[in-house]
Amino acid sequence: MIDLRSDTVTKPDEKMRKAMYEAEVGDDVYGEDPTVNKLEEIAAAVLGKEDALFVTSGTQGNQIAGLVHCRPGQEVIMESQAHIFLYEAAALSAFAGVQIKTIDGNNGAMNPAEVEAAVRGEDIHQPETGLVCIENTHNKAGGAVVPLENMEAIYQVAKRNGIPVHLDGARLFNASVASGTSVKEFAKYTDSVQFCLSKGLGAPVGSIIAGSSDFISSARKWRKRLGGGLRQVGVLAAPGIIALEENVMRLEIDHTNAKHLAEGLQAIEGLTVTNNVATNIILVDISDCGMSTDAFVQQLKGHHILTGAFGPNTIRFVTNNRIREEEIHTVLENVKKIVKG
Ligand SMILES: *Cc1c(COP(=O)(O)O)cnc(C)c1O
Repeated sequence: MIDLRSDTVTKPDEKMRKAMYEAEVGDDVYGEDPTVNKLEEIAAAVLGKEDALFVTSGTQGNQIAGLVHCRPGQEVIMESQAHIFLYEAAALSAFAGVQIKTIDGNNGAMNPAEVEAAVRGEDIHQPETGLVCIENTHNKAGGAVVPLENMEAIYQVAKRNGIPVHLDGARLFNASVASGTSVKEFAKYTDSVQFCLSKGLGAPVGSIIAGSSDFISSARKWRKRLGGGLRQVGVLAAPGIIALEENVMRLEIDHTNAKHLAEGLQAIEGLTVTNNVATNIILVDISDCGMSTDAFVQQLKGHHILTGAFGPNTIRFVTNNRIREEEIHTVLENVKKIVKG
């Protein structure tokens, strides 16, 4: 199988499995797991934040950030196709007791003036604005890199209004490698950051959230409340260290593969690549080839290629570390077959 459904399908390689086997562990709820502590130190340093916390998933990291930053009855501003809004089962409303206010972005980026206009004033009828969330890269916008200047402008709006900024940076390292901007630069315009170790970076489990020491000590308590206080979890942190130390620069390969795949798909009659492929995600509109997205996915699966429907008429392809350059050719040959067939 050539699996292009997501970059979450990566599997720990031999080196990661060996590191898991050999990991020194302790009880992380007591703060005594040296491997977790090392991962958190490395992550905080890479992001230029005071402290960091290993959490079970990106969703848990985003939820903890919302819980730390907000009080029930507040409102959180984010882009209208944000992962937190679309794909986290309304967790922020269910757990943090906040409502979400969405703003339509351009290629995943919100207009800072619209963010400012959305900030609530003093009014007994209205919720207070408790948080602004930015997503980079933006998944639904096809792995788009939200420009640093945009993040800076939104951060300034938020600071002017005394509102914290959280970055859902599930794929922040893809944004960094594609733009040449360090993750530290991006993180400068945030109060908290979440990134996934378990996507393109290739670790089997986990995310990091980072921020000030105060933020992380509250986050640690929320993680415990949510049942995320794990014990000898160094076995899962060990591959995370390898992910950060060795798998960042290779994201470039995923991006190059994605560009080649996108060029090939665009050249097939009936298919339109709808995103500007900057990282590892390709969105393809198939409405001109007279096939439903389900049929497209099923037929490709018959050729041992996995993809996913991503909204009406759209198929998402995501390159990842299991995809080799030669396989891009195989994928294109088989897509041609089913589109013509
Ligand atoms: C995958 C993803 C998440 C959630 O990560 P999980 O580890 O799957 O919970 C959050 N935000 C974005 C943008 C994502 O792509």
